[in-house]
Amino acid sequence: MATPDPPDADELPRHVKIIATIGPASHDVATLTAMIGAGMDAARINCSHTPAERIPELVAAVRAAETAAGRHVAVLGDLAGPKLRIDGLDGPVELAAGDAVRIGAADAVRPPDAADRAAGIWFRVPAPELIASCAVGDTVLLADGEVSVEVRAVEADQLRGVVTTPGAIGPRKGVHVPGIDLAGSAITEADRRSIAVGLEAGIDVFAVSFVQHPSDVATARELIGDRALIIAKIERASAVDEIDGILELADGMMVARGDLGVELPLEEVPGIQKDLVYRSLMERKIPVVATEMLESMITSARPTRAEVSDVANAALDGASAVMLSAETAMGAHPVATVATMDRILRHVEHHRRYAGSLLATQAARFASRAVDAPLIDSTSWGAPLADAATELAPRVGAAAIVLITETGRTARLLAAARPECPIVAACFSETVVRRLCLSWGVVPVIIEAEGSRSDLRHRAAAAAGRVIGGDGGVVVVLSGPVGDHLRFDDLRVMLVDGRGAVIPHA
Ligand code: PEP
Repeated sequence: MATPDPPDADELPRHVKIIATIGPASHDVATLTAMIGAGMDAARINCSHTPAERIPELVAAVRAAETAAGRHVAVLGDLAGPKLRIDGLDGPVELAAGDAVRIGAADAVRPPDAADRAAGIWFRVPAPELIASCAVGDTVLLADGEVSVEVRAVEADQLRGVVTTPGAIGPRKGVHVPGIDLAGSAITEADRRSIAVGLEAGIDVFAVSFVQHPSDVATARELIGDRALIIAKIERASAVDEIDGILELADGMMVARGDLGVELPLEEVPGIQKDLVYRSLMERKIPVVATEMLESMITSARPTRAEVSDVANAALDGASAVMLSAETAMGAHPVATVATMDRILRHVEHHRRYAGSLLATQAARFASRAVDAPLIDSTSWGAPLADAATELAPRVGAAAIVLITETGRTARLLAAARPECPIVAACFSETVVRRLCLSWGVVPVIIEAEGSRSDLRHRAAAAAGRVIGGDGGVVVVLSGPVGDHLRFDDLRVMLVDGRGAVIPHA
């Protein structure tokens, strides 16, 4: 029998996934359903603006939308972390160059009285570690970098400083001390509560904010275990420096460009983005690029040309997922913003440079592995078999690679190998399907777990046939006897038609 024609690339699933933050503009079931229809793969709950008690109701809304839309999506709980914020101000205050500023650091510090005000502008940042970590000469950035203050004196319960870059500050605005290693863990008491409530509610992925060291990820792992994936948000200089140790413990990392662009000079962020995504790919983890990607769509129905390029370039850098923040949480066009991102990604994925970037990733991994690691890791066949399937697929004209994955681990290894065709991950549970919604190129589907190894392989191949549709085609099947425990003879080539029937070899 002749091999059916490969399916039309436009019909195939998108590889780069879309995370959309939900908020007042989007957390009703109807809007969420439309956002899933438009291409949202994961809904992000921003715990900075969501008390833990509200998490279950938001997760339930996403689950209801999932059912209505007929497609699974992940829920990502983005922990608030120890973000420093201005407190003790009633409203905006304009700071002029040379103004004397006093920053009280403890919650218990009394509100400013008339004498305090006469002695300079006074507000609180309820974080004693700020005082403990600062020295004379340091720069404290206020309002997410708009205003800078040079520290002139460090006292027992306050910092005294002078405004060096003028501007407006206001209640709850962010505070940064670039380059300072703040004492304390990235996981606050509030985060512990969000984790406990979030796990109970069924959150699939947690993002850990303001990670400084690998030990912060280790603390998160102790609390979360394998009940959810962990994405380390890279928004501090020390996290950039310690990215390898962080990636070893996390399932992925997010280039959190908002805070990173305050902690480090803005002009360094694009290069850091490329380096972090590359390191993440080499470690076979999930790289996410976030913040201000389609920012103008908060109010406008169309993005700027620069934003369109930013989304496309993040894909070309190798991102597994790109993220929308205020655009979908409180913007005027949440559904159109997701649809716009979907269009940009589909388009760039068909550009020849995109195929080139995938080949470059495959080649870079091969080169780095040949230098510093054995070609085949004898403790696990997963990574070498994922690479082998990636190499085999174009040689046999495969329209998809299909694998059976018990925990999702093999699917993530295969995604990181960056094959050019879709990856169909046959899973046994909704939990694993949802966790794979952030993985590049993976189309997760559920198959029945009962039966022989050959039954499972046929079921998985059939699922791939339905995903590729059209006339079907050749698929490369990677399946172990029990999900993720692969052996070398677990790589097969099969032929399926577009309805999922497995066609016997002639
Ligand atoms: C960021 O700083 O870019 C980010 C993603 O974090 P948040 O939105 O929580 O500030």
